[in-house]
Amino acid sequence: MRLLIVEDDLPLQDALAAGLRQQGHAVDAFGCGTDADAALAGAPYDAVVLDLGLPGGDGLHWLRRWRAADRTVPVLILTARDAVEQRIAGLDGGADDYLVKPITIDELGARLRAMTRRAGGRVHGVWRHGALEYDPAARVARWKGRAVDLTARELALLEALMSHPQRVLSKAQLLEKLYDWSGAEPESNALEVHVHHLRRKVDPGIVRTVRGLGYALGASVE
Ligand code: CA
Repeated sequence: MRLLIVEDDLPLQDALAAGLRQQGHAVDAFGCGTDADAALAGAPYDAVVLDLGLPGGDGLHWLRRWRAADRTVPVLILTARDAVEQRIAGLDGGADDYLVKPITIDELGARLRAMTRRAGGRVHGVWRHGALEYDPAARVARWKGRAVDLTARELALLEALMSHPQRVLSKAQLLEKLYDWSGAEPESNALEVHVHHLRRKVDPGIVRTVRGLGYALGASVE
């Protein structure tokens, strides 16, 4: 998943970003709503982790703005322990879930998976496409029942394709899901290399090339 963190406590921001990257996600992190707002307009985030106490306009202000502008991205708010009213205001303001600080990265990861699962209309924690199975919690892909050894980026690519099984995704859209702004620009052929590896490790038909448009998940094989 590509995730956006908005947290002005920098040690916490760093810990959240590092922990979520460790879980295989592409993560951008900002300390104020203005920067986060610009980021949200510039990349296809799957979910936002939003602190409420922020400099220059609190989280609730931004959340309400995003919802007023019809931004449907799932938002999880981080709140202080005693702020029951804040949590209620956050949920009523359009948040999908909340966590009370201090939080654990494992629970945050699980809640983000649950939130995006609901947003994607999925009921099951394990995703299936014919003989292909993907378990985002365990970060395991199985083909015909056998676990396939995939890198974090290969898993992220598989997840991006499986989250829109009927759609053709452009190379730019897929790259945006795989790479955040923290590292170096990916190599120009990075996506082709990941696709090549998926086909070799899973099945040659698992990714379909749609000439001139991009890639799509292959036909379902039982
Ligand atoms: Ca804060």
